[in-house]
This record gives sequence, structure tokens and C-alpha cells, in this order.
Amino acid sequence: MATSALYKTYARADLSFESGEGAWLNGSDGLRYLDFGSGVAVTSLGHAHPHLVETLTGMAGKVWHSSNLFRISEQERFAERLCAATFADRVFVTNSGTEATEAAIKTARRYHFANGAPNRYRIVAFEGAFHGRTMAALAAGGTAKYLEGFGPALEGFDHVPFGDFEVVKAAIGPDTAAVMIEPVQGEGGIRPFANEFLRNLRQLCDDTGTLLVLDEVQTGIGRTGRLFAHEWAGITPDVMAIAKGVGGGFPLGACLATAEVGDAMGPGTHGSTYGGNALACAVGNAVLDVVLAPGFLDRVAEQGIILKQKLAAVVDAHPRIFESVRGEGLMQGLKCRVPSPDVVLAAREAGLITIGAGDNVVRLLPPLVVTAADIEEAIDRLDRAATALEARELTKAGGTA
Ligand code: PLP
Repeated sequence: MATSALYKTYARADLSFESGEGAWLNGSDGLRYLDFGSGVAVTSLGHAHPHLVETLTGMAGKVWHSSNLFRISEQERFAERLCAATFADRVFVTNSGTEATEAAIKTARRYHFANGAPNRYRIVAFEGAFHGRTMAALAAGGTAKYLEGFGPALEGFDHVPFGDFEVVKAAIGPDTAAVMIEPVQGEGGIRPFANEFLRNLRQLCDDTGTLLVLDEVQTGIGRTGRLFAHEWAGITPDVMAIAKGVGGGFPLGACLATAEVGDAMGPGTHGSTYGGNALACAVGNAVLDVVLAPGFLDRVAEQGIILKQKLAAVVDAHPRIFESVRGEGLMQGLKCRVPSPDVVLAAREAGLITIGAGDNVVRLLPPLVVTAADIEEAIDRLDRAATALEARELTKAGGTA
């Protein structure tokens, strides 16, 4: 690959995309790819969705940005609609997921400060979690390799193993402000917490005056077949970070909170130059127009069931390559027996974009508008990729393909 002026932070594939439509992308190599990565769960309505294109281009001729020194009608409407559709009464709008989790962490700490308990700043978080790349989000994630070389990690995070309720209970003390959790760990390898675990966590938080902070940056906006993944467990959080799918590809995120908690963030406690500008919020409203339309999420849930069933058949057909399938809705993970980057590469060679994750998992995150025919085609391509990998494995083992 040619040398680049960019930071070397990413291991990029030598491929770019010229255009796209729905679940399809046209590669710089002249090939058509089925996009079951959605730019890491971002392009929720696929590529070049007519309503998003029309909204963005229409808004571009009006006002892009005026700053939060003034009222922004698109931002107010966006926040009101998010509140009407969720537990929340207050919204802070951001440009990204990590800014949303950062705002959530600050909100949780500030709430206890405002209530006369400044000692309650500690946050219990889960091993395998990913909350973003700013310093507080990194400290919350706790992954050593992401923290290395950046000086002392922000103090005040207590990490507990995945899904062990008794350990969580023991970790909550007089200085705990919140428990922070992704209902399904995304980067960690599509690891869903059981509904019962989430319900017990809600109860534990209520009993101890601890806030429940959900990170639905990856699981939110319909990804699991409900508007937010926590709805499957029948619980609501006190604070929630969202991003990715809510902008459909335009940088947009938000921190949502109940009135009691959100109002602890008074004038001057937080801010952002770009967060919630008119252009971004117009697109966010356009995404909500589609996702909140009657029947849309039911269709996502149906496609999710079809995808999971077909993936299970691929797992059965290729036991040397795959171990199992897990996930909810259009957020599915294939636990691999061969290195997951090999599977991602073989899938791409077969014209299917997938995304790696922790725990040797390959993620399938198609756009929410994926069709049954797209799923059929993706499964064919995945099957071809697995067959090619099996042939390579046999060659490596000294057999014949
Ligand atoms: N939280 C979760 C659950 C995520 O999956 C991500 C990104 O992958 C983030 C936070 C950070 O979002 P961003 O990359 O937009 O800052």
C-alpha cells in the first residue's frame, strides 16, 4: 500500500468505496460488496437512503451550524422525539459515541455531587466492555492494550467479570455512583447479558441508590429489533449513551437521562462546539422518521430471526471454521474456530463485508433495511468463504482440498 500522511492508527484494508445503495457498496476494485458491517453498525438505513440524502442536501442549503449559544430547532425536535420514545426526559447531543459515554460518566458523577455525595464518583464497569477512546471512556473499558502509553488511567473505575451478579453486588460500595454496561457487548464479541441479569442489576441499583448507565452506542436505534436493547429485559436506565445508527453515517450521538439526573448538569457543566448542530440533527430526525415508522422495527426483528437461522445452518455446515452463532436481531456474531481475521478476509474475498470483534468473533451488522434477498446472498457468500477457508486448512494440514 502507498505510504500515507495519516496516523498509522488503523490496519486498513487496501480498498475504498466509490458509491453505494442499500446494503451494497461499489469498491474501488470494480467489485460489488454486500455490506454486512455497516461501517461498524453506523449506516442503519444503508447507503444513499433517499430520505437521508434529501434531508441532508435540503438542510445544506439552509443552516449548517450556529452553535449552542442559540436555540437550534432541529436539535430540540430531535431531543423531544428521543424522550417521547424512551425513558428519558433530558438529552445532551454529541458528535460521537465516546463523547456520549463521556457525557454519561460526567452526568452520573455530577448527579451525586449535586445531591451532597461528592464521594460517590466510582463506576462499576464490565470486563470485555468498550466505551470509546477518550480518556474516561478508555478507563471505563479498562482494556490494558488501549490504555498503554497514555499515562495514568482516569481514577474511579472498578471492573467486574462478565455476567457475575454476586461480584457486581460486592463491588458496589458507599462511593459508587453508577454501574455502566452495554446490554450486548459489541466490540467484546457480541456477548449479550441475560435479561434476568439486567433486571437484577436494575433492582440492585435501585436498592443502593446507584445509577444504571447503559451504553447503547452499538445496540441502539433498532439494531437488536427493538429501538433499544434494554427493552428486551423490560427495564429502563437512568442514563444512556447512544450514537452510531442514530446518524445513519453522519457523526451524531447523544446522552439521555431522566429529569432528576439530567438536571444535575446545570449551566456551564458541559458543552460542545459542534454537538447537536442543525445539519447533524436534521439527519438524526430523518433517521428517526424511518426507524419509528409503524412496523419498521418488527421487520428488523423478523430479518434478524431469518439471519440467525441461516447463520446457524452455515455454522452446522462448517464445523471446522465456526463454533456458534450468538446475538439479537441484526447484531449477530459468529464465534470462530480459525482466527477471526482470516474469516473476515475470506468473506471480503467472496464479496461480503463483515467486522471482527473480541473473543475470536466475526460480527454481522447489516443495515436495518436489509432485504431477505440480501441475506440470502450474504449467506451464499459466507458459505463460499468458509469453503475456501476449509480448503486452505486442509492444505495446511497436509491433506487435499
Ligand atoms: N460505546 C460502544 C458500545 C461502542 O461500540 C463504541 C464504538 O465502537 C463506542 C462507545 C465509541 O463510539 P465512537 O467510536 O463513535 O466514539
